Amino acid sequence: MRAGVTGRRWRAREQYFIGKMQEQVEHIYKRLYDHFGPQNWWPGETPFEVIIGAVLTQNTNWKNVERAIGNLKGVGLLSFARLSELPVALLAEYIRPAGYYNIKAGRLRNLFAMIRETYNSSMEEMLADSTDSLRRNLLSVKGIGPETADSILLYAANRPVFVVDTYTHRILSRHDLICEDFGYDEIQEFFMDHLDPDPSLFNEFHALLVCAGKEFCKKSKPRCSDCPLKGVEGI
Ligand code: SF4
Repeated sequence: MRAGVTGRRWRAREQYFIGKMQEQVEHIYKRLYDHFGPQNWWPGETPFEVIIGAVLTQNTNWKNVERAIGNLKGVGLLSFARLSELPVALLAEYIRPAGYYNIKAGRLRNLFAMIRETYNSSMEEMLADSTDSLRRNLLSVKGIGPETADSILLYAANRPVFVVDTYTHRILSRHDLICEDFGYDEIQEFFMDHLDPDPSLFNEFHALLVCAGKEFCKKSKPRCSDCPLKGVEGI
């Protein structure tokens, strides 16, 4: 009997903390949104362009990605049919502005091979796959990690999958909302447990965290006094 009461109390306390955490996550979103406004990510005219951008943006800034995508667009290569047939050395030349161009050309070729083999070279077929299956297939591609796979799921396939990056980890841990040693999956779970599974909310939230990270929450010397998240406390 006592154990039952304890169990109920524990569940009530757990519910209380889940509720408080949810409030805090929504509070962060609101503060960031009020400060930065809508970000309308991802800048790409087609899902295929978003997918290419997700690979090219690894370890570089978006300006460089734009230049690389501009090169491909300029010669009419931004389609699966054309780009996947391009010799890898030529592909590397076109995407040179994005940096690590030989590595990234190889990653794109690996991705194209998976799309060819698993989805019969069809973007439509790939984007119609279930979230779990598509994520698994993306992660099976050498050079595609969780952040790139989830960016493709969220921004190209419009799935409610939260994208985690270094800024997300830094901001949340500095506010004691997660443990410093949380890994990608734990941070993703934290958001997905405390937010409605809404792709447009996840889209905006990730973009806003990137803005806050770039502008205020720098690795060293964070600009807390000017930051919209100043004063936000953990639970
Ligand atoms: S800059 Fe300071 S207030 Fe802003 S998110 Fe980072 S730790 Fe928080």
